[in-house]
Amino acid sequence: KKVVMNTKLETSDLRWTTYPNTDPEVSSNWEEMSGLDEEGNSVRTFQICPSDGSASHWLRTRLIPRRSASVLYVEIRFTVMECSSLPSSSRTCKETFNLYYYQSDEDTATPTHPAWMENPYTKVDTVAADYLLRRGGERKSNVKTVRLGPLTKKGFYLAFQAQGVCMALLSVRVYFKKCPALTHTFSSFPETVPHSLVQQAEGKCVPYSAPSGLMPRPPTMLCGEDGSLQDSPASGTSCPGQGDIQCVSCAVGQYKASMGASVCRGCPMNSNTYTLGAVACSCRTGYYRAPTDPPDTACSKPPSAPRNIVPQVNDTVVTLEWSEPLDRGGRLDLSYSVECAQCAPGRGCVPCAESVSYRPAQTGLMHRRVVIHGLLPHTHYTFTIITINGVTSTSGTQPATATINITTSTDVPVPVSGIRRTKASETSMTLSWDVPAQPHYTILDYELRFCSQGEDDMWQYITSKGNSLALTDLSRASQYRVQVRARTKAGYGHFSNTATFSTLPDGTEPNARLIVTGVLVATGLLILIIVVTLAVFCVKVYIDPFTYEDPNEAVREFAKEIDVSFVKIEEVIGAGEFGEVCRGRLRVPGKKENYVAIKTLKGGYTDKQRRDFLSEASIMGQFQHPNIIHLEGVITASCPAMILTEYMENGALDSFLRLNDGQFTPIQLVGMLRGIASGMKYLAEMSYVHRDLAARNILVNSNLVCKVSDFGLSRFLTENSSDPTYTSSLGGKIPIRWTAPEAIAFRKFTSASDVWSYGIVMWEVMSFGERPYWDMSNQDVINAIEQDYRLPPPPECPAPLHQLMLDCWQRDRGSRPRFSHIVSALDKLIRNPASLKLTGQSHDGLSPPLLDQRPPPPLSQCSSVAEWLRLIKMERYEENFIQAGFTSFELISQISTEDLLRVGVTLAGHQKKILSSIQTMRVQGKNSLRY
Ligand code: AMP
Repeated sequence: KKVVMNTKLETSDLRWTTYPNTDPEVSSNWEEMSGLDEEGNSVRTFQICPSDGSASHWLRTRLIPRRSASVLYVEIRFTVMECSSLPSSSRTCKETFNLYYYQSDEDTATPTHPAWMENPYTKVDTVAADYLLRRGGERKSNVKTVRLGPLTKKGFYLAFQAQGVCMALLSVRVYFKKCPALTHTFSSFPETVPHSLVQQAEGKCVPYSAPSGLMPRPPTMLCGEDGSLQDSPASGTSCPGQGDIQCVSCAVGQYKASMGASVCRGCPMNSNTYTLGAVACSCRTGYYRAPTDPPDTACSKPPSAPRNIVPQVNDTVVTLEWSEPLDRGGRLDLSYSVECAQCAPGRGCVPCAESVSYRPAQTGLMHRRVVIHGLLPHTHYTFTIITINGVTSTSGTQPATATINITTSTDVPVPVSGIRRTKASETSMTLSWDVPAQPHYTILDYELRFCSQGEDDMWQYITSKGNSLALTDLSRASQYRVQVRARTKAGYGHFSNTATFSTLPDGTEPNARLIVTGVLVATGLLILIIVVTLAVFCVKVYIDPFTYEDPNEAVREFAKEIDVSFVKIEEVIGAGEFGEVCRGRLRVPGKKENYVAIKTLKGGYTDKQRRDFLSEASIMGQFQHPNIIHLEGVITASCPAMILTEYMENGALDSFLRLNDGQFTPIQLVGMLRGIASGMKYLAEMSYVHRDLAARNILVNSNLVCKVSDFGLSRFLTENSSDPTYTSSLGGKIPIRWTAPEAIAFRKFTSASDVWSYGIVMWEVMSFGERPYWDMSNQDVINAIEQDYRLPPPPECPAPLHQLMLDCWQRDRGSRPRFSHIVSALDKLIRNPASLKLTGQSHDGLSPPLLDQRPPPPLSQCSSVAEWLRLIKMERYEENFIQAGFTSFELISQISTEDLLRVGVTLAGHQKKILSSIQTMRVQGKNSLRY
C-alpha cells in the first residue's frame, strides 16, 4: 500500500475548508479539534453536532495527489451519535454522512469553488456507522474503506457532507495498492501500480535462462487493483506459446549473456559450455578470442605459414610476393610482416641495417607483396614472411613463418662516399668524392644531384665521368645539398648520404691554405698561358662564348658577378636590344663609386634571349682597352639580369655629332677617329671581327674619348627586329651601308670588312652624323658600290681623311689598310695639323670615281629658304630666320655674322656652315627665291 494522505500523521492544523462559513455562535458547523486515537496518540479530528436541522455542512480536504494510481482507497475512522440519545432529537437527525470527491489537476479550490453540491462533486457513498454512540454506552469507532476511481486528474479533494448527523471524524487515510516485485520461475517482475482493474505486469527472464516456448516474449503476470499478482490466464490460440511463457536455464552448449527476453544461444564455433545457465562459452583448446572479440564470436586460432615466396632481385632491390596461408585461423584480420637478416657465410646472420626500407611497410602488410630497398650489393640475405592475425599474440605461440634466401646483384656499386668541396667561389664549387673500392666492376659514370638547402627535392642532376664535378651558376653564400651515385653496366647504385656545401659569400677569400694553393696554381697556369700564348699565338685571342657548351660558363669566366645591392639605378638613358639602358651608380665596397651604364634584360625573355643578352658581356669581358667599352660586371643571380659597363656621358657618337654639328675642329674629329681606330686595332689583334662598326655603336665619354661598343650579335640574327638599318640577307641581317661588299655578298666578315665599316664611320664623323649615302635605297647603295662609286668627302673634310676613307673602301679587301696602319696615319695627321687644312676632292686617278656631290647642297635645286636650311641641316633655325625677316635669298645673301647672332645662331660651327653655304649661293647667283 502506498499512503498519499493520513490525518494521523499531521501534527498541525489540517487546514480543511468548511461550508457554510456561518458564525459558529449562531449555527454549528464542522470544528477541528485535537483528540487521542485508540493508541493514545494525539490526532487532529473534526466534529459536528448540528443544531439547525437538516442544513448541509461541508468539510473539504486539501488537494490529495493521485500519484500513479488510478484507483485509491479512503479509510475513514469515525463515530456517530445515536439520534435517540441526543437531547434535541428530531426528525431531521441523521446517523449517516455523504462522501464526495472532486478531481483537479491544480489546487484551484476556494471557499466558494467548486459549488458545494453533488456535481461538480462526485458522490462516492453514503457512509453509515456500524456502531452508534449513546450516552453512557461503549465508545466504539467505525472504520469504513471506500474505493475511488478510476481517477484521471493529478489530484482530488474529498468532501464530507453532514446533514443533521452528530459525528466525529477521527482519522482519514487515503492510499492505493501496488503489486509487489516478485521473482517467480526464472522470471523477475518489478513492483507494479495497477492502473485499471487488471494490469499486466511484464517480467524478464533472470540471467542464464531464457523464455521457453517458441516466441521469445517476456513473461507476464496480472497485477490486480488490489495489489495482488496472478498468473496470466493461458490463451494459446493465435500465437504459439503465448501466455505459456516461463523461463528456463540455458542448456549445456548454450549461453545467454544478458538478462531479458532473449533466448539461449548455441555456443559459437570452437567454443562450448559445460554447465547449465552459462553466461558465455569458453574456447576449445587451441582456439582463442582476441581481447577485442565480443564473447559471442567464434573462437579462432593463429594463421598457418605463408606459402610460395617468389623473389625478384633487381640489383639491390628485392621484391617478394607470396601466397595466402592454407589456414587463416578462422579470422579475417590476416596481415603479414617481413624480417630481414644479412648473412655472411660462416658468420651467421644479423638483422638488416636500418637503412633498409620496405614498401609499403615492414609490418601490418595487408597485401602479399613487399619491395625492399637499401640492400647492399653482392650480399646474402634471409627474408622471413610472418603471418599474423588477431589471436596471434593471445595464443602465446610463435607465429607461422616462411623464409627465403637471396643474394643481391653483384654488379651494382656501393654508395659513393667521401664527398668534399675542393674549390669554391661565390657562384661555383668543385666537388670530389672517393672512388668506391669495389674491384669487381667498372664504373661507367657518376650522377650527382644537388639542390639548394631549403628547396628539398628540387634536385638538379649532372653526370660526370670522373670522381669530381664543378657546379656552376650557383647562388652566392648559399648552402647546397649534394648526393652522388655511381653507375655500372648493371645500373645506378644508391645515392650517397647527403653532404652539404656552400658557395662563398661576396668578397670572401678562401682560407690561407687555399690561397697558397690557389696562388701556386694560378701562377703555374699564368706561366703556362703566357708560354702557350707567346709560343703558339703570340697574341691573346678572343673566345666566342657560343663555343662553350654552356654559354653561362663563358659569362662566369669573363664577366664578374656583381651583388645587386652595390648598384643604384638612377635614370633611363636609352633603349637597347633587350631592354632599357639606365644610368646608375656602382659602389663596390672598398672601391670608388662609379657611374655605370646598366643594360637590363626585360621580362618575358626566353632562355635563348638571356644567353644572347649575356653573350655581349662574355665578349666585352674579354677586352681591356681604353677605346673599348669596359665591362664592370654582370648581375645574373637576381632578376632582371643586367650588364654593367662604364658610363659614357655623351652617349652614342652619331647622335652626339648631330647634336654638336659643326662644333668640333677637324683635329678634334680626327682625335675621335684615332681612338676608334685604336680600339678596332685591338679587336683585330684579338681576332675579333665586330661586323657592326658604325657611329651609332661608338660611345663618347665626357672627355670626347670614343669607345667601341655593341658586341651583341643578336641584331644580325633576330629576324623580327624592326630596325631597318639591318637588312635581312641569307644567314642573318646586315647593316648594308656600313658593310663591305664581300660581306654583303658572301658573308665574308673579316677585320678587313671592319676596316670598310671604319671608313664609313670616318665619313659619319667628318659629316657630323650624316646618314651614309643619304636617302639612297640599300639596293642603290649596293649597285653604286658595285659600280665603284664611293661617298664624296663631307663638307670641309680634310683631303687626307677622305683619302683614308677611300682606302678603306677598296674593293679588294687585301688592299685595304690594316687598323694599325690607320692608327699611325691618323697619328701622323694629328702631329701635323697643317695637313688637315687641305680640303677638296682627291682625284689622283687612282681613286675610283665618287658619288654625286651631295653636300655642299646643290642650292640651285632649292626652291625656298626653308628647303635650303634643310639641305644644309640647319632647319632648326627656320623659325628664327622667318621671325627676323630673312625670307628671301636676296636678303640672306647679305647676312653677316652679327646678323646670325641676332637671329639666334650662336654656335660658331653653325655660323660657319650657314655663311659658307651663302657664299656658295652667291657664287651660284641664287637670289630670286622667296619663302
Ligand atoms: P645599345 O644597346 O648598346 O645600342 O645601347 C642603347 C643606347 O643606350 C645607346 O645608343 C646609348 O645611347 C645608351 N648606352 C649604351 N651604353 C651606354 C654607356 N656605356 N654609356 C652611356 N650610354 C650608353
